[in-house]
Amino acid sequence: MTFGARARIRLSAVKHNFQLIKDKSPGTRVMAVVKGNAYGHGIVPVARTLKDADCFAIARLSEAKALRDAGIDKPLTLLGGVLSRDDLSRAIALGVEVCVHNEEQIRWLEDCRGSAGTVWLKIDTGMNRLGFRAEVATDVITRLRRCVAVTDLRLMTHFANADDPGDDTTQRQIDKFLQVAADFDGDISIANSAALLGFASALSQFSDASGVDRLWIRPGIALYGVSPLHGRTGAELGLQAAMQFESRLVAVKPVRSGDCVGYGGAWHATHDSVIGVVSVGYGDGYTRYIPAGTPLLINGRMVPVVGRISMDLTTVDLGECASDRSGDRVILWGTDLPVESIAEHAGTVAYQLVTGVTHREAPVFDQ
Ligand SMILES: *Cc1c(COP(=O)(O)O)cnc(C)c1O
Repeated sequence: MTFGARARIRLSAVKHNFQLIKDKSPGTRVMAVVKGNAYGHGIVPVARTLKDADCFAIARLSEAKALRDAGIDKPLTLLGGVLSRDDLSRAIALGVEVCVHNEEQIRWLEDCRGSAGTVWLKIDTGMNRLGFRAEVATDVITRLRRCVAVTDLRLMTHFANADDPGDDTTQRQIDKFLQVAADFDGDISIANSAALLGFASALSQFSDASGVDRLWIRPGIALYGVSPLHGRTGAELGLQAAMQFESRLVAVKPVRSGDCVGYGGAWHATHDSVIGVVSVGYGDGYTRYIPAGTPLLINGRMVPVVGRISMDLTTVDLGECASDRSGDRVILWGTDLPVESIAEHAGTVAYQLVTGVTHREAPVFDQ
């Protein structure tokens, strides 16, 4: 039995979530986003599970290397693109499709004597992060089509506010991208998880306008069972949580009313009680921003964090009559304790919590 915190990954849930998204977007091809170690879920096991994905999207060349070393030979797309000529050579050697979002990257492709194969041009339709503005798209497309190294040019754009179905930015971004796509006869890619689950009917404008068969979707967080939409849990959207983050009690001790617990004495008991010490801390990815009062699940009941999270340990109030013992299992998040709600307590998003798990103990993969 291990006493350290560890993630238990249910690969069948990843499969279920993939299928749910595919069923909602019939006819499209799926670029499954596995950047950030598959959002903390293990990039290689997740990629092996997603046999029906048409491509994997990554954010670092090291992620491409990990996939290729594991024998995964599907197309890979490097979302941020390359940052140097050397990176372009490395990407080509790894058989990675690059994104292009700046002038320098175009020049490297113009000078490239090898074959870069498929290249994705990023169009900035309003996020103002990466990409060329829609107004210059025609010129950039012409230049890239002249590059000998580019055998297949495709377009993509990224939504900024799709997590809020009431926000009209997404429709404006869709309209802008529709205009660019109308003059373009290659494949196009849109839609993170939030757009796929929150803007399905708006997205159908693309298939209506140009046929579904050139459309690639890019789900990430939803594959892992986490809701991309504000105020909704993954379960409400039909998704299954793929990660259970769990640990064990390593000490149980009585405290008297007035006793302080943990660093800085940030919490003190207002009544006699029993404190449980859990083997998890910010060194495991259970962030220090998790405040007192955040729930954990122990022996079928919710108990609150008390005091500050330390690197390896977390204290909880088990209640005066607690019969929990050292060694008992503690669930930090999972199906019965949505990571979305823990994120809300911590003032962050579930993306950060699952991606931030440090895996000091190797994760366990269940089929
Ligand atoms: C991360 C990312 C995605 C996936 O986003 P989710 O919200 O996790 O679904 C899609 N496209 C791009 C460009 C990304 O960077």
